Amino acid sequence: MLTNRYNLGFFPTPLQSLKNLSANYSDYSIFIKRDDITGLASGGNKTRKLEYLIQAALQNGCDTVITAGAQQSNHCRQTVAACAKAGLECHLLLGGKEPEKYDGNLLLSHILGAHIHFTGKNRKGEDIDVVEKRLKASGKKSYVIPYGGSNFTGALGFVTAVKELKNQLKQTHTTIDYIFFASSSGGMQAGLTLGVAKYNLTTTLVPIRIDKERNNGRSIQESVLSIVRSGAELLNIDRDFTLSDIPLITGYDEAGYGQISEDEKSVLHELAQQEGILLDPVYTARAFYAMLDHLKQHKIKKGANVLFWHSGGFPAIFEYADQIQLR
Ligand SMILES: *Cc1c(COP(=O)(O)O)cnc(C)c1O
Repeated sequence: MLTNRYNLGFFPTPLQSLKNLSANYSDYSIFIKRDDITGLASGGNKTRKLEYLIQAALQNGCDTVITAGAQQSNHCRQTVAACAKAGLECHLLLGGKEPEKYDGNLLLSHILGAHIHFTGKNRKGEDIDVVEKRLKASGKKSYVIPYGGSNFTGALGFVTAVKELKNQLKQTHTTIDYIFFASSSGGMQAGLTLGVAKYNLTTTLVPIRIDKERNNGRSIQESVLSIVRSGAELLNIDRDFTLSDIPLITGYDEAGYGQISEDEKSVLHELAQQEGILLDPVYTARAFYAMLDHLKQHKIKKGANVLFWHSGGFPAIFEYADQIQLR
């Protein structure tokens, strides 16, 4: 199951120490896992999921892929790129109405050849069935990838990612006590949870909630738990997971999904200027701010080795230029 993947990215992604930044937080050592440079049309965490999802689409004999997201969806941009490589037609259902000028991820999705449908207030795939039926009537066989690529197949990408990290830690004689990351549709969190259990990593996951709105009626923790429960058995993990095994840090998402706060804007500039690494205005600036806030307030034990799992998102910077630029 775990070897059944279609090669799309450059793996392993680098594991690096943030030496300059760590100097400002003397009680901690900060590391970063560079999934912002997975290599697929500017990279990001969805590449790992897509290696399994595209493989499944091809195995099922599909010729078309349908998925959904916001206009600045990194998931959608990486999905179209993956489809281009695999020779699949790609339909994207994107929230809102068509803007006059395409920018950021929307522009890239367009360049990569997406068939784009604008779906108004729906940005989480509510209209996928309608599009699938229409494509079926015209003779297409579609493979539906849910919002964020977050199902068990997609999550397998992050089970494998834990194995990859474990090897890197072994080679560099490093241990990681906490992994901070942005959690939104939950597939990354589900995969990491399963991977940590399967490969016995002694690390605490610290997922930061990015989007307080529910996804098709479900909270993130419910979505994660459902993937983890069905996945544990398939991966021979002998453990009974409950909601209390699925952590989630809330409170950093008060501004709402896609709204960058002053604090987030300031860490985006801080990391760029200290380490030459770009965060994004929707996911990783929020999660990175939350991590630094935890360190400043000593919410985790002193002396800990802390990893930020960078999940990508850089193209959205251009769409948010007005809000990111310092004036
Ligand atoms: C999709 C995405 C996430 C969240 O991953 P989920 O699996 O949806 O929880 C985090 N960061 C970036 C940049 C993303 O594009």
